[in-house]
Amino acid sequence: MSERKSAGQAPVVVYDNVRKLYGDFVALDGITVQVNKGEVMCLIGPSGSGKSTLLRCTNALETIDGGRVLIDGVPLPTDERQARKVRQRMGMVFQNFELFPHKNALDNVAIGPVTVLGMSEAKARERAMKLLEKVGLASKALNFPNGLSGGQQQRVAIARALAMEPEVMLFDEPTSALDPETIGEVLNVMKKLADEGMTMVVVTHEMAFARSVADWVVVFDHGKVVEQGPPRQIFEAPHAERTRDFLGHLGWQG
Ligand code: ADP
Ligand code: MG
Repeated sequence: MSERKSAGQAPVVVYDNVRKLYGDFVALDGITVQVNKGEVMCLIGPSGSGKSTLLRCTNALETIDGGRVLIDGVPLPTDERQARKVRQRMGMVFQNFELFPHKNALDNVAIGPVTVLGMSEAKARERAMKLLEKVGLASKALNFPNGLSGGQQQRVAIARALAMEPEVMLFDEPTSALDPETIGEVLNVMKKLADEGMTMVVVTHEMAFARSVADWVVVFDHGKVVEQGPPRQIFEAPHAERTRDFLGHLGWQG
């Protein structure tokens, strides 16, 4: 793995032989992967292969049945109160935005720091406005979610996650629910975050994004890592037959 650009950077999240069961069903089968500081790691693979499950195991929304997940070298706590603390250090962005429908964009971004971090309302709103500017939505600060396009709602959701000053951002198919014409604006915001050095784990079907923005790509199939490597390897010279099959299925051509 000497090709890895971030080699030498501290690992932020380490998955060490992670196993996750749902009853008898093995959802994750010996996942060993790590994301280093300042790195963008993309998780790709067919639907049902375990990508979302791994993200949920990262912020202790799920418990694991074997192996370890280490955050900054410390195993995820099993105690819910401790787990909540760890979760606060991770920003999570979902497919369906999950904004508060009865709050405007500004309040959606400001509320976390007020209620969770105990920040003053004035300070939280000032920071929220800066974050909305950052995602290109200063002019929509007073809009409610139903007055925003999907792409705009997702950018508010990203600003909301950033308001908690996370150490790592987790994205689960952030553009899958969007109209094609708004996908680009969300990917651009994500690229900007990556350029600023944010550590990111991104589940995506946007192969062009993974190819150009990821530092490291992990290919999942049936709860296992089929192959992992730099995007050049995965997209241009995949080692595994199943990587080729998956990319071919999506119509990816180098
Ligand atoms: P992906 O995100 O790659 O599409 P998931 O991680 O959502 O896949 O799911 C992996 C597998 O685990 C799927 O077969 C799914 O049906 C199963 N699974 C996920 N969550 C649950 C759950 N809460 N209970 C039972 N099975 C689940
Ligand atoms: Mg999923």
